[in-house]
Amino acid sequence: MVIAFRLGDIVRLRKPHPCGSYEWRVVRLGADIGLRCLKCDRRVLLARSELERRLKAFVARGENQPSPEAPSGE
Ligand SMILES: [Zn+2]
Repeated sequence: MVIAFRLGDIVRLRKPHPCGSYEWRVVRLGADIGLRCLKCDRRVLLARSELERRLKAFVARGENQPSPEAPSGE
């Protein structure tokens, strides 16, 4: 089953980041999914299949389309 990630989704993973947070925001979509840690602000790239394996739950869903005013993330 394919999970439809959206920009701005807040996801909870099965294992915590070293900083202690389980929650991440989706900041980039593609073959690899860009995630930003909500606690320490670190960015990582995960293969979509890897993220699907690690995903525990959606905490919040993002917009269907990215907002033009959305920060670039850099
Ligand atoms: Zn972190």
